[in-house]
Amino acid sequence: MQNPCQSCGACCALYKVVVLTSETNDQAGGIVPEDLTVPSGRKKRLMKGTETFSKRCAALDGTVGAKVACRVYAQRPSSCRNFPASWEIRRGSNPLCDRARAIYGMLPFESY
Ligand code: SF4
Ligand code: SF4
Repeated sequence: MQNPCQSCGACCALYKVVVLTSETNDQAGGIVPEDLTVPSGRKKRLMKGTETFSKRCAALDGTVGAKVACRVYAQRPSSCRNFPASWEIRRGSNPLCDRARAIYGMLPFESY
């Protein structure tokens, strides 16, 4: 079964995506491509593109609500890894997932 996030991507094109400075690949043990991030304060960075008003992560390929892919999926920051989709939670939901989908005109997964 295809991961439903692959036909969504709304959260990647709505929210600021925080990256800890220690997570970028210019640091020992870091994996997130540093050149895909921008500084945001002393200890944090943001995924490039999410610092702007019309946020869209620079690593997001495709069309939101149709077909998307994360170009750095294996190297994505912890804030992405720790952001559950509502379909993953089953009971209860992630309101931020539901909100992102609603803004892009998609139903929350709990309504399926
Ligand atoms: S790094 Fe990947 S999963 Fe995280 S916001 Fe960007 S496109 Fe989405
Ligand atoms: S908004 Fe929810 S369903 Fe859509 S990509 Fe993000 S986590 Fe997945």
